Amino acid sequence: MALLIRNLAQVATPIGRTALRGRAMRDLRIHEHAVLVVDRGRIAYVGPERGNTIAISNDYDARGATAIPGFVDSHTHLPWAGYRESEFNRRLQGETYEEIAASGGGIASTVHTTRAASEEQLVANVIERARTMARHGTTSAEAKSGYGLNVADELKQLRAIARANETSPVRLVPTCLAAHEFPPEKRDASYVDEVISEILPAVAREQLTKYCDVFVERGVFSRDEGDRILRAGIALGFQPRLHADELSDTGAAALAVELHAASADHLMHVSDSGIAALAKSDTVANLLPGTSFFLMSQRYAPARALIDAGAIVSLSTDCNPGSSMTESMSMVMQLATLQMRMTVEESLTAATLNGAHSLGMANETGSIEPGKRADIALIDAPSYLHLVYHFGVNLVRAVMRDGEFIVS
Ligand SMILES: [Zn+2]
Repeated sequence: MALLIRNLAQVATPIGRTALRGRAMRDLRIHEHAVLVVDRGRIAYVGPERGNTIAISNDYDARGATAIPGFVDSHTHLPWAGYRESEFNRRLQGETYEEIAASGGGIASTVHTTRAASEEQLVANVIERARTMARHGTTSAEAKSGYGLNVADELKQLRAIARANETSPVRLVPTCLAAHEFPPEKRDASYVDEVISEILPAVAREQLTKYCDVFVERGVFSRDEGDRILRAGIALGFQPRLHADELSDTGAAALAVELHAASADHLMHVSDSGIAALAKSDTVANLLPGTSFFLMSQRYAPARALIDAGAIVSLSTDCNPGSSMTESMSMVMQLATLQMRMTVEESLTAATLNGAHSLGMANETGSIEPGKRADIALIDAPSYLHLVYHFGVNLVRAVMRDGEFIVS
């Protein structure tokens, strides 16, 4: 039954069954020339080959690869239809995101194409994106609704995630983001009531997700509206996540802490008091530097201040067709280090164990240690440092989830 993975240059992993914060984010465990034993979907042994006592029935030659935990991408918008490459090209020619949104582009255009798509089409789109994620080393990913913005189309997106999860190579964790934007046909507070009294209860009845999310932002949902929606969600059994302080400081980070949110995401404009609140909390500061990069902003989230204050920091792609069109977590690590001054070790912890914590899975995945699910990426490199050092290429050679190769 047991599989021996031998001839590894390195195994590099954070250690623990909960998130790491502050200095501890740098404490990777590095096993040089180790072997891994995988048994019944779980990691059974990590260490020198001579130390292994488990009977081996099969072996795999890693040919000098480095093993890291499969990435946990804890913020994506996977179930969408329709790309926005021409809007992207307009941005490159000088139009702003806000100007494009005002002319019917932006989230509204993806709402239009996603409403027009069938559930089957969304299932296929999610699986296709999950395959790309897997090829780049991701084994678990969060996936948000939020392009439906009415009962039927939010349910369609969440059902598509659930159906895709039955065959997706990547483990999917759904979030209801009905409060992503106001729908084009109802740009007023009555939509807040619809989310609270119709959409969230319908999602709860079908048990489609554990999480609900709100985009708290100037011009979108106010802090008070976010507070109302998320408290309604809590009453229905959901844990909050927040798009917080992305384009302006609205106090959303502090709101996330107050509501015991699983994560406060983006945080490019988080205030000093928001940083202090996150540092004292279990709410994960989830940073998405692909968005700053893709929107050509010089403004990145204050990763150093957050980590140095003691916050739990994770990293995600924010994979979506408008503001971050990528499935690559190694690209996100490159931005986290080269633009936000995180160390490679911090960024690997953020992209694996801390993301798993924010999705309630740190006990099961996010690190390579005995007892955890065998969610492992093998990279063509003599050390984990190459993940950032050797930038712009995909070093992932093989990926295992629950002990089965999903990329080989
Ligand atoms: Zn997002």
